[in-house]
Amino acid sequence: MRAIALGVVMLCPDWCSTEHGENSSPSWHYSSVISVPSVLARAAPGGRSSCSSIRAAEVELVIKQHDDDAEPWVHIGPEDDVSSSLLMSVESAARMASMLGALVADSGLSSPRAEALVTDRLE
Ligand SMILES: [Zn+2]
Repeated sequence: MRAIALGVVMLCPDWCSTEHGENSSPSWHYSSVISVPSVLARAAPGGRSSCSSIRAAEVELVIKQHDDDAEPWVHIGPEDDVSSSLLMSVESAARMASMLGALVADSGLSSPRAEALVTDRLE
């Protein structure tokens, strides 16, 4: 995909799905967004008490790269709270995906019953 701004033609990475308009900055490139329905909680500061602020949220997964960045980043975070987001290298995100699957599978907590127990706490 090509981005054109201020008469300058810039090339987008192959994974970019951003529609760069003629008047918009082509500086940031974004992949398509994957939204994951999630149940989130906040860890208590210092681990002094149980998790709180349990809520439902859409967690967005997107690859992004600024023209000044040497490599793209994987953004993981709730759509309504950018301050809680993580930016990871692509390699780190791939390792994280693999290890998260193993962690949940090994714990035996990936059953629908476990999800229902957490969801019940939202109501
Ligand atoms: Zn782009």
